[in-house]
Amino acid sequence: MDRVVLRKGREKSVLRMHPWIFSGAVASEPSGAAQPTVAVEAADGTLLGYGWRSPQSQIRVRMVSFDPARVPDDAFVRGLIRAAVARRLPQPSGASGVRLVNAESDGLPGVVVDCYAGWAVCQFTSVGADACKRAIADELMGCVPGCRGVAERADADSRIREGLETGGFAPLAGEDFPETVAIAENGVKFLVDVRRGHKTGFYLDQRDARAAVGAMTRAGMDVLNCFCYTGGFGLCAAANGAASVTQVDASGDALALAKENEKLNAFGATRFDYVEADVFKYLRQCRDAARSFDMIVLDPPKFADAKAHAVKAARGYKDINLLAMKLLRPGGILATFSCSGAMQPDFFDRILSEAAIDARRAFQVVGRTGHPADHPVALAFPEGRYLKGAVLRLI
Ligand code: SAH
Repeated sequence: MDRVVLRKGREKSVLRMHPWIFSGAVASEPSGAAQPTVAVEAADGTLLGYGWRSPQSQIRVRMVSFDPARVPDDAFVRGLIRAAVARRLPQPSGASGVRLVNAESDGLPGVVVDCYAGWAVCQFTSVGADACKRAIADELMGCVPGCRGVAERADADSRIREGLETGGFAPLAGEDFPETVAIAENGVKFLVDVRRGHKTGFYLDQRDARAAVGAMTRAGMDVLNCFCYTGGFGLCAAANGAASVTQVDASGDALALAKENEKLNAFGATRFDYVEADVFKYLRQCRDAARSFDMIVLDPPKFADAKAHAVKAARGYKDINLLAMKLLRPGGILATFSCSGAMQPDFFDRILSEAAIDARRAFQVVGRTGHPADHPVALAFPEGRYLKGAVLRLI
């Protein structure tokens, strides 16, 4: 097996069970494209474990086995898949969409598996993960109760950084996938576009946040759901008696599916409006038209990709939060989120405080949300934590 030898002192993070080894920590490595699985050695020759090497990436090796006695062959990877799936059983109550494998935090760097009512959709975003995809698909067919099929979405940007080919949706095992898959979550039904939808088709990571928004909804509320995608938060509010829900997104395809989801659920008491617009502009239009709402949800895409962009991203977060704060009626609720890993939770809180000060409005925190149990974060891998959310009440 090829070896990667670390520079002196750079074994420390591996000894702390952190999975990433950056190129700057590497003293010697195989030339060119060798087998992805490598033995990792400290400068003094001590074998530290094994990892998957990505020759083009700054993250040069991702550790898969910290045990020098356990070589991560296909059987080892299949065992990790089985263990990750077993940890999700029984599935979150009332949810038929669940993340089965959460990459580094489940010990499988670059492997994400989301399962929608028996249809498993994977993303492979490291060279080593990509090399194992056939074995992983086969194992999922065998170990996921009621698994109908396994497919891959190969359109993540992170594949480009790894030097992997990109593509769209590709079946890997089992039956032919339907065009859309219906799932249920907290009593709300959703159609998931596994072929063309974002990520693997649905933002399963916001399940607990959608439940929190549902729980804060009171009968008769007017709700503005910004960055609505296929309608998630708005439908949860409708399920809990909202009088009106305005669903705003820049994507016409997402809104089309949001409308389908409205029909599927038939919450007769709620009036739905759909607005295809840039939220930054739409919030200003609402301000200029002196509109107001009882609840506003802000669930933007990631504004910061890297720490270096955090300051620019901060401006974006502050802008939309400040505008939304001013649109709330007395006692109104703002549910606001950030999925930028580069934005630290304390920094996000500071942005919210500053927005409130500029809006000259007082808020109290009535809830916080984060990663649901099927999106765990390994303690040794704080980089895996990206999702933050606060539910604020105007007082
Ligand atoms: N809240 C959703 C997930 C939101 S994902 C859920 O629970 O499922 C972020 C969404 O923001 C995407 O649907 C994307 O199309 C949309 N988006 C990105 N930039 C936007 C902008 N400037 N204005 C409006 N929508 C935007």
